[in-house]
Amino acid sequence: MAAAQRIVIENCSIATVDAEDTEYASGYLVLAGNRIEALGAGSAPEGLENVVRRIDATGHLATPGLINTHHHFYQWITRGLATDHNLFDWLVALYPVWARIDESMAYTAAQGSLAMMARGGVTTAMDHHYVYPRGTGDLSGAIIRAARETGVRFTLARGSMDRGESDGGLPPDFAVESLEGALAATQATVEEHHDPSFDAMTQVAVAPCSPFSVSTDLLRNAAELARRLGVRLHTHGSETVEEEKFCHELFGMGPTDYFESTGWLGEDVWMAHCVHMNDSDIAAFARTGTGVAHCPSSNARLAAGIARVPDMLAAGVPVGLGVDGTASNESGELHTELRNALLINRLGAHREAALNARQALRLGTHGGARVLGRAAETGSLEAGKLADVVLWKLDTLAHASIADPVTALVLGAAAPVTASFVNGRQIVADGRLLTVDEDAVARATRDEARRLAQLAAQR
Ligand SMILES: [Zn+2]
Repeated sequence: MAAAQRIVIENCSIATVDAEDTEYASGYLVLAGNRIEALGAGSAPEGLENVVRRIDATGHLATPGLINTHHHFYQWITRGLATDHNLFDWLVALYPVWARIDESMAYTAAQGSLAMMARGGVTTAMDHHYVYPRGTGDLSGAIIRAARETGVRFTLARGSMDRGESDGGLPPDFAVESLEGALAATQATVEEHHDPSFDAMTQVAVAPCSPFSVSTDLLRNAAELARRLGVRLHTHGSETVEEEKFCHELFGMGPTDYFESTGWLGEDVWMAHCVHMNDSDIAAFARTGTGVAHCPSSNARLAAGIARVPDMLAAGVPVGLGVDGTASNESGELHTELRNALLINRLGAHREAALNARQALRLGTHGGARVLGRAAETGSLEAGKLADVVLWKLDTLAHASIADPVTALVLGAAAPVTASFVNGRQIVADGRLLTVDEDAVARATRDEARRLAQLAAQR
């Protein structure tokens, strides 16, 4: 086998986000093939062979690539609708539109969502996709294809809904699957696309949509299926007061107890939002190792509330960050969520002691890797880990006078990405994607958004 080609990055600040939060005011990174080979303070070692590129990263901060732990790509083509609604009213307004999506729309919307995140420093993305209207083609395959073309590491959380309108659910009946159909299609997706290897670019999780859109049987069977196949479990949990009320009325218990009763707490589970959690809910997550995808902008946009992130972290709950679908977070960026997580949590119970800049960066990197089950591979800059690295440009008007680079990244304006590497391959240069044509994607997403709006209006 040919020796791995090396890329040397020098003269940058480095925030490794390792267990000790090691930082270098000026340091180097050596990437060899798809791994980080070495990093440290000062200059790179002399005499390295096979160096194909040397990057002078003066004025930059190097961090682990950002990791998004909750999203719904298809919503890229339904942005800017129902902007003044809470979650339930927003879902009621949007389900009839979402129910009209087809394979071409799913692909194009995935391209838009992925491109927006990747150009802002996301190296590992996820999509929780749960709308599979009958007879609309291979939506999962289309989404995975878009992720491969963009070049980001990817987890598809193969969602499902089996509680349509006639069963007291919110989505139209033709947009939901049968219990058996959902489980069979989910298993087929795992078998076709899930790669368990260390440097996997595509993984699949089992992900029924939420307690109020799926039956108890689907939740239970999905948990069994995921454990039989050795993949992770994802869903929405404790997002709103209304959901809590719904669970009490239907099941006689709150969402966390309901999840526990259906086999849905464990180290292999992560849930989006977790806003309305009491002390015993947080203790149950900590005891079982259940992870949380914190989505501060979406929670604010839908007036859902403030998740108790400082209490979760203090209890030892794994927490990552999520953009959430862009129908409830039109910006679609993750690097701005670092700032929003810090700011929103300082409005919560702990005020100024809530989160600091380094904790926010950790949520968006190492925390996300833990939640996706990939902490051994990515989420921090350490020798032997995958070469998922971002260089943030901090020497221009926006950031040059901010005293500390991590503070500049988290609290300053959204920092431009000079270079983003995924699996050792550069996918962003000077803020532009190298893998797909952003302008072509923008045009395609606009066209598909119009086509979807027209289809929805016809019914
Ligand atoms: Zn969501």
